[in-house]
Amino acid sequence: DPLSVHVDLDGGRDYDILIGRGLVASAGPRIAALGARAAGIVTDTNVAPLYAEALRTSLEGAGLRAGIVTVPPGEASKSYGRFAEVCDGLLALKIERNDVVVALGGGVVGDLAGFAAASLRRGVRFVQVPTSLLAQVDSSVGGKTGINSPLGKNLIGAFHQPRLVLADTASLDTLSEREMRAGYAEVAKYGLIGDEAFFAWCEAHWQGIFSGGPERDEAVAACCRAKAGVVTRDEREDGERALLNLGHTFGHALERITGYDSARLVHGEGVAIGLALAFRFSARLGLCGGQDAGRVANHLALAGLPTRLQQVPGGAGDADSLLDAMAQDKKVRDGALTFILARGIGQSFIAPGIDRAAVKAFLDDEL
Ligand code: NAD
Ligand code: ZN
Repeated sequence: DPLSVHVDLDGGRDYDILIGRGLVASAGPRIAALGARAAGIVTDTNVAPLYAEALRTSLEGAGLRAGIVTVPPGEASKSYGRFAEVCDGLLALKIERNDVVVALGGGVVGDLAGFAAASLRRGVRFVQVPTSLLAQVDSSVGGKTGINSPLGKNLIGAFHQPRLVLADTASLDTLSEREMRAGYAEVAKYGLIGDEAFFAWCEAHWQGIFSGGPERDEAVAACCRAKAGVVTRDEREDGERALLNLGHTFGHALERITGYDSARLVHGEGVAIGLALAFRFSARLGLCGGQDAGRVANHLALAGLPTRLQQVPGGAGDADSLLDAMAQDKKVRDGALTFILARGIGQSFIAPGIDRAAVKAFLDDEL
């Protein structure tokens, strides 16, 4: 039996996240139980040849009409152009108000398909079948959907909660080592935010997550439980949900500086460096001990992730360009930055009003 996490949103919008091996091939009856007659599968050209036919066959076996809309892989597909293509593709498949859009893929496909589902006929049912570790532990849960504008990432979007999330942990067997490690940075993040025991468990069991042992399912479930809790208490990020951005103020700046070029840096690698920086910065401000910062960096490095600015391929630039990149983040007001800092492992908090000079002095030492 799969593991399950219930997301308890008000207004009858609660939904289940199921986690286990083989959920793609058994998705049909579970999706049919939502009451749809047709399903539009949205996926990318990496994932399509691996899992799209198995999903379609399962849906058809459960009595649904099913079609597939495919986009190229990569962040560039979160664009106005691809959004239009996906919407028109779904309309051509005659997806009606009570039918379902199924996102089969990583976070790019989930965000794009989710926004199409939110927009099509003013909102059709949406199911996430995340196939990257990042998507299973983060982007498929919580209802944020959207695309990028030439003016910035994720600036166009909607909150549109899924009706069901099916995280097939066997699908991660085909994910590249690098994408696996990148997703693992987000796994470790949940321990660092609010659960020291989970971080300690990760230190002991991370290899099982990578190799596909039962620890993988347990870790995905633990992360979904943590994210579901945060999202239930603060669906629209008025407060607590911002904690999920631990490591991301620095991480987003590094992604911006490397031009969102995944050959240089993928999101999770930026987050890994950002997590290490957030703890070293916290230690420097006297909030947590240096040994906590050391423990965080050691574990991420052991899992094969970068933890220092010097490890950014092509360089991280100077402190001022990093600060400028951070200042473009939406969490910045009047020259003061909002960071997620930590009083220890599992004791993160929102720290508004951190002044630029303190960050600059820290970055100068780090570079
Ligand atoms: P991604 O979707 O680009 O997937 C990474 C790569 O892995 C792609 O090349 C993809 O084709 C491939 N892939 C996916 N599953 C595979 C599998 N099972 N086997 C082989 N290859 C596979 O990237 P991602 O890291 O999954 O997601 C990143 C995106 O998620 C970003 O756009 C980010 O903004 C978004 N995101 C959204 C939220 C949210 O709350 N909505 C949260 C975090 C991140
Ligand atoms: Zn992230």
